Amino acid sequence: MLLIEVSTIPPEGLDLDEALEAAEVHLDGEDAFRLDVGGRLVCRLEKGDDQSVHVRGHLAAGLGLECGRCLEPFAFPVEQDLDLFYLPHRRETELMEQEDEVVLTDHDMVVAYYAENRLDLGEMVREQFFLTLPMKRLCRETCLGLCPTCGTNRNVAPCDCPEPPTDPRLAPLAKIFDKGSS
Ligand SMILES: [Zn+2]
Ligand SMILES: [Zn+2]
Repeated sequence: MLLIEVSTIPPEGLDLDEALEAAEVHLDGEDAFRLDVGGRLVCRLEKGDDQSVHVRGHLAAGLGLECGRCLEPFAFPVEQDLDLFYLPHRRETELMEQEDEVVLTDHDMVVAYYAENRLDLGEMVREQFFLTLPMKRLCRETCLGLCPTCGTNRNVAPCDCPEPPTDPRLAPLAKIFDKGSS
């Protein structure tokens, strides 16, 4: 269970070891990637006197992505240490009054907020996934991609298509790049 009632966290802390399911980490219907079976969140929650919650632990999961060049699926492992602070969400007026207090606390790592006594670790996991995802989703750095003419996956087999005609305005550039390759 990844939805934690903050009031139920005992003074000595709460240890969690949870298998991750797509629904619990709010990834149902997510099409950017999929969560493989076997993901785990192991963490410890400690509640401070100010109702802050310190989350420390480790997130291990496999994500299934699609290569941006060849469109083949590939696995992207996530191994992420966690050290996060959650503060109770306050109304704005309260927040202003208590601003000094917040600044003086040592929650200078990562601070997020929880609302209505509930800490949704599933949402936290989801955010971690998005933070870890690479900008370029490639099955490998050297992926050759698909042939624009016949659609063959060039990683698997070369095809006989002629190179697409180059823009004559780019010809001088092409010459530069071709140097040394002949
Ligand atoms: Zn690829
Ligand atoms: Zn081709």
